[in-house]
Amino acid sequence: MAAFTDTGGHPPGRPHPIMATEKNQPAAANVHDQLVSARIRSRIKAAGVRFHANDNIAAFIEEGELAQLQAEVQGKLAAVLESLVIDVESDHNTQDTAKRVAKMYINEVFRGRYQAPPPVTEFPNIERLNELMIVGPITVRSACSHHLCPIMGKVWVGVMPNEHSNLIGLSKYARLLEWVMSRPQIQEEAVSQAADLLMSKLQPDGLAIVMEADHFCMHWRGVKDMESKMINSVMRGSFLRDANLRREFLALISQRQRG
Ligand SMILES: [Zn+2]
Repeated sequence: MAAFTDTGGHPPGRPHPIMATEKNQPAAANVHDQLVSARIRSRIKAAGVRFHANDNIAAFIEEGELAQLQAEVQGKLAAVLESLVIDVESDHNTQDTAKRVAKMYINEVFRGRYQAPPPVTEFPNIERLNELMIVGPITVRSACSHHLCPIMGKVWVGVMPNEHSNLIGLSKYARLLEWVMSRPQIQEEAVSQAADLLMSKLQPDGLAIVMEADHFCMHWRGVKDMESKMINSVMRGSFLRDANLRREFLALISQRQRG
C-alpha cells in the first residue's frame, strides 16, 4: 500500500489534516488570527465556555466586531454561492445575496447569539400572587441547527409565583423568548434554555413551558410532510411535583388552542 505512505498514513483522496501543514508554516496561524471569528473564538476557548449554535456569545464580542463578523460571513457566503456555480456577477438576483444573508444571520434570525439579553425589569410580588398564571400563545421564530431551516411556533408559559417571586411585564416574556429562539436551535433545548432563563428572572414556585412548532426542514425537504408539528414541554418546580397543577395548565392551554 505505497499510496498510504505517500499521504502520510491518510487514505488517498483525503486531504491532509490542517495541523500537518501548519506545523511547517507557523505564519499560517497569524493569518488565521486576523479573522474576527478566530479572535472571538480564542477568547471563548480561553474562558473555557461552550459555544454551540444555541449559546449566546455576546460577552466575548468587543465593540465594533459585530460589523466585522458580518463582513467575514458575507465573504464566506459569497464563496458558497461561487461553489454552487451561481453567476453572481451577471445574475442581478444574487448579486447582493451574500450581503443580505450575512446581515439576516447576524442582525436578525441569529441575533440571539450575538446580542446581550434584553433588559427586563423585575418587580417584587407585592400582592403575593400565588395563582397559576398563563402567558400565551407567544409566536416564536427560530431555525433548526441541523439544516438552518425556519422553525415557526407558539409557546405557552405557565408560572406559579410565590411571595418571593419576581414579576415581569407581559411583553417581556416575548422579548426573552425571542432572545433564546433567534439562534440555531433544537426545539427540546430551546424550551429548556427558555425555562432556565425564566426561572432565573422570576424565581417562581414552578414554571411550565409548552412549545408547538412547524419545522420547515420537514416541509421543504426530506419527507415533505406538511402536517407534522412538534410539541414538547418542560416542567419545573411545583409543576413537576403537583400533577393537578400540571393538568390545570395543560387543560387551560388546550381550551385556548381550540377556542
Ligand atoms: Zn432541520
